[in-house]
Amino acid sequence: MARITESVCKICRREGVKLYLKGTRCDSPKCALERRNQPPGMHLRRNKPSEYGIRLREKQKLKRFYGLLETQFRRYFELASRSKQNTGEVLITLLERRLDNVVFRLGFAPNRAAARQLVTHGHLTLNGHSCNIPSLLVKANDAIAVKNRKGSVDLVRLCLQSASPRIPDFLAITAQEPPAGKMTRLPTRGDMDSHLEDIREQLIIEFCSR
Ligand code: SF4
Repeated sequence: MARITESVCKICRREGVKLYLKGTRCDSPKCALERRNQPPGMHLRRNKPSEYGIRLREKQKLKRFYGLLETQFRRYFELASRSKQNTGEVLITLLERRLDNVVFRLGFAPNRAAARQLVTHGHLTLNGHSCNIPSLLVKANDAIAVKNRKGSVDLVRLCLQSASPRIPDFLAITAQEPPAGKMTRLPTRGDMDSHLEDIREQLIIEFCSR
């Protein structure tokens, strides 16, 4: 399975915004963007970005925020553009429904990459069945639970104790031991992670529709 291997802080520095890819460190003074707010590399270009460049950066921000590769992102865009509803809103709700994102937003993992690992390593169940596919789209009333075995529960408990996550309205915690949650309804644009809620999806649509 392909995954992003470059330093995640470099990704934030390139985009010029905090993408919160590292969990608690992102809110601390150790955040690389706060210490060195400039793009990575020796030869910095300071030209005014082109219209193309602005749209490209907006797309990259969204893609990297959810930890996706280009092919995966394009697949979501294709799905969203086939919908009769607003393409931008559908795109964001599809990304919010990914199992790794749901696990992260339930507070079971410190960031989306860790949530993805939690899923792929088989620590979770979806509707009572083992599930190791992070890209799976969660539906309304689906139940996500940590497997009732010491290793899995300890991993998630550690995360729940070290951070106090703000659970979004479309999700709910249904049990503590072992931790479990539920998607109470499908997410909307307004349920998007507040760290990237000012993303301009119209620019992304313009870029991807070229
Ligand atoms: Fe690194 Fe997090 Fe800061 Fe981004 S927000 S630069 S991932 S510490």
